[in-house]
Amino acid sequence: MRIDGRTKLTGIIGYPLEYSLSPMIHNAGFEHINLNWCYLPFKVRESDFARSFDGLAALGFKGFNVTMPYKEASLKLVDELDDLTKVVGAINTVVVKDERLIGHNTDVEGFLLALREKADYDPQGKKVFMAGAGGAARAVAAALGRAGVARLVVANRHPERADSIKGLMEKHFSGCETSTVSLTGSLDKEIARADLVVNATPVGLQSDSSELPFSVAEAHQGQLYCDLVYLPKETALLRAARSRGAETLGGLAMLVLQAALAFSLWTGVEAPLQVMEAAALKEIVRN
Ligand code: NAP
Repeated sequence: MRIDGRTKLTGIIGYPLEYSLSPMIHNAGFEHINLNWCYLPFKVRESDFARSFDGLAALGFKGFNVTMPYKEASLKLVDELDDLTKVVGAINTVVVKDERLIGHNTDVEGFLLALREKADYDPQGKKVFMAGAGGAARAVAAALGRAGVARLVVANRHPERADSIKGLMEKHFSGCETSTVSLTGSLDKEIARADLVVNATPVGLQSDSSELPFSVAEAHQGQLYCDLVYLPKETALLRAARSRGAETLGGLAMLVLQAALAFSLWTGVEAPLQVMEAAALKEIVRN
């Protein structure tokens, strides 16, 4: 990769960032289509987070991603939000245009495309159980609302964040019956009756993790288990659910699809999806 005075800059802000595959995914994409662009990781502590936005804009960045744990806190730091991002209440992509910061959320479409294209799954009318209520969970909830799910149960350790997603769903997707439960309570009944089970917590992240975000005792044939965690490619949760007959979908497809959408927002060019997926896979195998 050549970096010179004409190189256009993008990157990602998060904490921690050790497991992020985004630099490899985007840089492989830029290189493949000969774009003089570069993507850099910025591990930013909470105390520095607010000023990091202005810093990247001042340095001439064309845009950047925001990841865990800053997707919701980013709302206050941009000048504009697209309509969908207003609904979600969390940002994963910022475009810098004419010195204005515009917040987008490509996780929503990335999640839906992954479900439809990689798992051949239509969520319309389905009953969903989701663990987690952070930025990614908000995007998944909005995606499921748009797709017309019938029921959503949100399980989280801190109830106020799950309640906030319930509020989002009631305001924007009133056709979906939404309820909340504690992630630390007994979940077997809720999980047993779900068609789609989603893990939107980071539990299970790291190649050697055997940790489960919730019990899979009730996993059964006819269900789809979907883990947003992409490292390892098949998490302990998905392995256990598959052994009980459920279908599974790992986080890699969503990761690459949300990245491809951000890539196009920044560059105006269609992303080379296969090259970006291959770059992510190579990194997963290396870990
Ligand atoms: P976030 O905003 O920090 O939210 C984290 C969520 O996970 C919160 O609901 C938190 O619960 C819960 N949580 C954290 N640690 C937990 C633990 N040890 N046990 C139980 N619950 C725990 O993070 P995020 O941006 O939503 O990301 C969540 C995960 O999704 C990350 O692993 C991220 O890498 C992944 N992700 C993947 C993709 C993809 O494309 N595949 C896209 C986005 C995110 P509390 O509220 O109770 O603290």
